[in-house]
Amino acid sequence: MTVRVRLAPSPTGSLHIGTARTAVFNWLFARNQGGEFLLRIEDTDKERSRPEFTANILEGLTWLGLSWDEQPVIQSERIASHHAAIQSLLDQGLAYRCYATDAELEEMRESQRAKGLPPRHDNRHRHLSADQEASFQKEGRTAVVRFRINDAETIIWKDLVRGSMQWSSSDLGGDMVIARRAPADQIGDPLYNLVVVVDDASMAITHVIRGEDHIANTAKQLLLYQALALPLPEFAHTPLILNPEGKKLSKRDGVTSINDFKSKGYTAEAMTNYMTLLGWSVPEGMEERFNLQQAAEVFSFGRVNKAGAKFDWDKLNWLNAQVLHGWDPAKLLLALEPLWSAAGWDLPDQDWGLALAELLGPSLTLLNDGIEQARPFFEEPPLQADGNKQLDIDGARSALGSLLEQLEASPWDGDDIPRAQQLLSDAAQAAGVKKGVVMKSLRAALLGQLQGPDLLTTWGLLARVGQDRLRLRRCL
Ligand code: GLU
Repeated sequence: MTVRVRLAPSPTGSLHIGTARTAVFNWLFARNQGGEFLLRIEDTDKERSRPEFTANILEGLTWLGLSWDEQPVIQSERIASHHAAIQSLLDQGLAYRCYATDAELEEMRESQRAKGLPPRHDNRHRHLSADQEASFQKEGRTAVVRFRINDAETIIWKDLVRGSMQWSSSDLGGDMVIARRAPADQIGDPLYNLVVVVDDASMAITHVIRGEDHIANTAKQLLLYQALALPLPEFAHTPLILNPEGKKLSKRDGVTSINDFKSKGYTAEAMTNYMTLLGWSVPEGMEERFNLQQAAEVFSFGRVNKAGAKFDWDKLNWLNAQVLHGWDPAKLLLALEPLWSAAGWDLPDQDWGLALAELLGPSLTLLNDGIEQARPFFEEPPLQADGNKQLDIDGARSALGSLLEQLEASPWDGDDIPRAQQLLSDAAQAAGVKKGVVMKSLRAALLGQLQGPDLLTTWGLLARVGQDRLRLRRCL
């Protein structure tokens, strides 16, 4: 049997971190088993579903490297199968039309509330006679279709993450609506639990892997599998992602969509690495920094935790830094150049860009750190307090003056390190200061402050665009 799993996102928003993490676990399991990872776009909520969200979800999955194996299934195109399943349940007497009006249902809920009872449908139209139905229809009432849920059943399954699961059918809220309200000679829009079962079966899904917020749905869906005589998949319910305070991660935590993480400068590699660790623990001896392929080799549900997974920004940042520090300059430049260009900065040439990427790489945590860190290479930085203080040291300006004089006579090519060392020594000698003073003062002149990356590389980059002389001149 080929393992077939699916991600079934609703295109009602951008790709959410929870959905993306579900995708990661599905993908890892499929690849581990030599199986197939499929997509189904659950676009039956016509009001909230939008094609641009579908595009965003597919783009996000592609960016993360979560490749899928067949054309995505579009749920709304399968409505004929959904209706056929509902019709067969009606024909077998396993489902029925319920004519209760909204006002009647509200009255029922109100009386339950008054008695302190949990809300639950009272199955009032389960046994209507043909005459009663005819009279409701004559009144012009519309009907939903309800699936019969017998109260006395215990639904059990073996969850791949949570082990033995039990659910009492009396806790499912009464007979379940599987099709929305419609005139009695029609079947209305089919609803989530019904369509998921029909589609999973038709896609020959062997394992349903999704968040634990779907556990109650699984209980309902198992009853539908039985009623429709469809082969049962296995189920794995993955833990929720919690914020650092232990509450369900929400928009209030700043980022929830994969777009948000991307635009903050997180890499796809760090995101998939981190999402895997959100709920899965590495086997003994395996590093926490890994790529998807490495994780797929050893992935199993045995190592997925039952408890909610707390989001840990420090760990994600650490992983992102590890990823960036491992990139070669060409890969870094490819990622940084669009950010620089969005800031309005053009590269004088490719080699210069590569050298700048190589210089900044080791100090990046987020890709976007590469904007502020690159700024002084594209824009003259203001002189800051520590920079000014350095320039006020005895002999500092005179040393820089002598350095500038030499550079005006013959600019440094930015490459020839022995010459740069010689220029610094000569300037120190001319001003009667130590070479260290010249170096610190040069840094203050070039960067406006005393913090920054390697001095000779910085100077070299600025020299190649003639900026070293300009910045020295303003300090004299
Ligand atoms: N469309 C559902 C969701 O986004 C799918 C749930 C499932 O995997 O069955 O939550």
